[in-house]
Amino acid sequence: MNLVLMGLPGAGKGTQAERIVENYEIPHISTGDMFRAAIKEGTQLGLKAKSYMDKGELVPDEVTIGIVRERLSKADCQNGFLLDGFPRTVAQAEALEQMLEELDRKIDYVINIDVDQSILMERLTGRRICKDCGATYHLVFNPPAKEGVCDKCGGELYQRADDNSETVANRLEVNVKQSKPLLDFYETKGYLRNINGDQDINDVFEDIRALLGGVSE
Ligand SMILES: [Zn+2]
Repeated sequence: MNLVLMGLPGAGKGTQAERIVENYEIPHISTGDMFRAAIKEGTQLGLKAKSYMDKGELVPDEVTIGIVRERLSKADCQNGFLLDGFPRTVAQAEALEQMLEELDRKIDYVINIDVDQSILMERLTGRRICKDCGATYHLVFNPPAKEGVCDKCGGELYQRADDNSETVANRLEVNVKQSKPLLDFYETKGYLRNINGDQDINDVFEDIRALLGGVSE
């Protein structure tokens, strides 16, 4: 089962990734983890990636793709994998196609957790944090008993700068622009499956399970 997971920030990708790898016993391969592992192991590509990251530069595609290739060749990927955060561009997607062909494999599905941008705005801007004890709340999902006041210590609640509407809207916009060509690419290939992410976490996973097939338990 060779899968690619996509979804905008706040769509609930992390939660669904956890459930998929648990239920289907395939490794969750996120770009960040992959880079960290390659750097820790001190592979040639890992060191190359580190040299760019240390300078605050983007790691070039050839290095990223090489690290993905090494990772997908490992034994734990024999029964499949869940890629998360790669590919990010059509060029990377094309490289992945070629790489899988060389390994005599192909992508089964690209799962896109689809949530309306207005709902993502609500999810991503609703977080509030206590100034005194650091407890976190959410205006919609986990509101404090009294508006603006921490239930635990009575401290004042504030919104992090990262969570304000303008910052979040920008972040979403950048992500939409970046993922659109990739979604189109996978749609054309026939791999893309949109899963409605605007429902209960369990129902989202049920939809994924309906797509991937039952799990032998
Ligand atoms: Zn508090």
